[in-house]
Amino acid sequence: MADAKIRLFVEHPLATGNSVPVDRDQANYLFNVMRLGVGAHILLFNGVDGEFLAEVADAGKRRGILAVKDQTKPLQMPPDLWLLFAPIKKARTDFIVEKAAEMGAARILPVTTRYTNSDRVRRDKLQAHAMEAAEQCGGTYVPEVAEIAKLGAVLDTWPADRQMMFCDEARVGAAETLATATKGKWAILIGPEGGFSDEERERLHAMPQTTPISLGPRILRADTAAVAALTVWQQALGDWQ
Ligand code: SAM
Repeated sequence: MADAKIRLFVEHPLATGNSVPVDRDQANYLFNVMRLGVGAHILLFNGVDGEFLAEVADAGKRRGILAVKDQTKPLQMPPDLWLLFAPIKKARTDFIVEKAAEMGAARILPVTTRYTNSDRVRRDKLQAHAMEAAEQCGGTYVPEVAEIAKLGAVLDTWPADRQMMFCDEARVGAAETLATATKGKWAILIGPEGGFSDEERERLHAMPQTTPISLGPRILRADTAAVAALTVWQQALGDWQ
């Protein structure tokens, strides 16, 4: 619908004819900040049912009602790709989560490693960043942000059928690609600013699921590396083709 410029994530089932209640924060955004009134159109998605056109049926100061009209997009699932990364400074961690959601990661897992700079992350805030990124980029799916966990513990229960693109700064400049890799369940692993320890590197290289990858001849910051790795993976094995 041409006049529906705002996209909103809602935690409510979406189907033509449904009424969706608007909570206090959403009412403030829609009716006070964006000044939408009764009859205005917006787009809704919930990460499950796809995207729908909706019309404002009631616009109060603290609440409202949206009437769901036609479906505008089906649910578009991203590839089955996890992004594991060691949190860095807050703004850069937020950036990684935002870009992972935009670029099509299905699940985002913060992990602590030997040299992790920061192990304090607010899962709820990171999840909100992923949701806002999906609102902005036209996605109909919001990647789940997992609770932070120790890398070692995650590797202890690593699924046998999930391959891992291990971005290893020690292989900087090596000519490694995903050219012979096969599609399927994957994960990307990005280390902290301090890099991986020798023990971590040894363990990762010993795993049969691991494909070590160099991201070129320069050492990238962790947030740059996350975007570069997502690009390389999407181009070779993801939904960009
Ligand atoms: N302190 C490390 C060093 O000086 O070698 C650099 C760590 S780097 C800032 C953060 C993470 O980004 C690394 O652990 C790795 O996962 C990824 N990374 C950065 N540049 C890379 C490259 N050229 N090849 C592979 N991974 C890279």
